[in-house]
Amino acid sequence: MDFDFENRIVAPEFSSSEDNDIEISLRPKVLGEYIGQDKVKENLSIYIEAARRRNEPLDHVLLYGPPGLGKTTLAGIIANEMGVNFRVTSGPAIEKPGDLAALLTNLNEGDVLFIDEIHRLSRAVEEVLYPAMEDNVLDIIIGKGPSARSIRLDLHKFTLVGATTRAGQLSAPLRDRFGMLLRLEMYTPEQLSSIVNRSAGILGIDIDPEGALEIASRSRGTPRIANRLLKRARDFAQVMCEGEITKEASSLALDRMEIDELGLDSIDRLILKTMIKNYNGGPVGLETIAAAIGEEAVTIEDVYEPYLMQVGFLSRTPRGRTVTPAGYAHLGMTMPGQQRLDV
Ligand code: ADP
Repeated sequence: MDFDFENRIVAPEFSSSEDNDIEISLRPKVLGEYIGQDKVKENLSIYIEAARRRNEPLDHVLLYGPPGLGKTTLAGIIANEMGVNFRVTSGPAIEKPGDLAALLTNLNEGDVLFIDEIHRLSRAVEEVLYPAMEDNVLDIIIGKGPSARSIRLDLHKFTLVGATTRAGQLSAPLRDRFGMLLRLEMYTPEQLSSIVNRSAGILGIDIDPEGALEIASRSRGTPRIANRLLKRARDFAQVMCEGEITKEASSLALDRMEIDELGLDSIDRLILKTMIKNYNGGPVGLETIAAAIGEEAVTIEDVYEPYLMQVGFLSRTPRGRTVTPAGYAHLGMTMPGQQRLDV
C-alpha cells in the first residue's frame, strides 16, 4: 500500500497555504489566551513583567518541543506583550552570514527576532550570532587574505527567540547564550478540547463539548493537529450530520480518516507493524525502520516517535527501538514471549 506522507492528516507541519492562513487567524495574541503550558507561561510572564519594568528588552529565549505545540505562537505573544516588532525567519532560510547581518541590522530597539529550526543554522552563521546575542555587535570581515580586516557595527538591543524540535542538537555555545530555556509539553485532552472550542468559536463552527473532546483526545497532544481535525470534522458534520459536530460526527470523521481512538494514523501503525513483523518488535535501529517504511529517519524521530513514546507504545534502548507490550496490545497482537507463556 502507498502512503501519502506529504498529506498526512495528523502531520504536525503546515500542509497547504489555506491551512497556513487559517492557522495564523487562530493564533492567540496574548499570554492570557494561550491555553495550557502553565509552567512556561508563569515563568515567561514574570520575565516579561520584569523586563518591562526595567524598560529593557527581554533576555534571549529558546523554546523546544515537538512541532505544532505552539512555539511560533508563543514567540509572537512575547513580541506582542513586550510591544515590539516580530520578525520571523528560520535556520535553513539564513544561508550566509550576510543574510543574518541584513536581518540584524534591520531590527529596532527591543524587537523580537524569531528563528525557527535554529538547530539548522550553519556554523558560519552561528559565529555571527554569538557577538550579536552577547554584546549587540556585528563583526564583519571585509576583503580577503592579508588585506582582510574586521569592522564592528553596533546593533540595537534585540531579543532572539529560537525554536527547535531538538535542544540536544543545538551547539553548546549557542545554547549557553540563551537566558531562558523553555520546554513545551504535549497537551492534555482537556486543554486541547479548550483549544478546539476556541478555534470553533473563531471559525464559526458549531460543536458540542463531547464532539470537541473526541477530536481533542485523538489529536496526539498537539494543537495544530486538533485544529486541522476540527476542520475536517466540520466537513463530515455538514454533509452527514446536519452541521453540528457531535461526538458521533467527529467519531465518524476520524474513523474515515483512519485515525484511531488514541490519535494513531495508518503510518504510526505501519511503523509498529513493520517493527513487529520484520524485526520481532525490536530492538531495531532508526535508519532500518526508516528504510523499511520509506520515510526519512529525522521525520520518524521528530514527528512519529515522540507521540508513540508518549503513549507508551515504543521505547528507546541503547540497541535501538522496541515495541512495548502496550504497543502489541493496541494492534491486537501478541508478544513472542507471551505466546510461549500461553502454551
Ligand atoms: P510550532 O511553532 O510549535 O510548530 P505553532 O505556534 O505554529 O506551533 O502552533 C500551531 C497552531 O496551534 C497555531 O495556529 C495555534 O492556533 C495553535 N496553538 C498552539 N498552541 C496553542 C495554545 N497554547 N493555545 C491555543 N492555540 C494554540
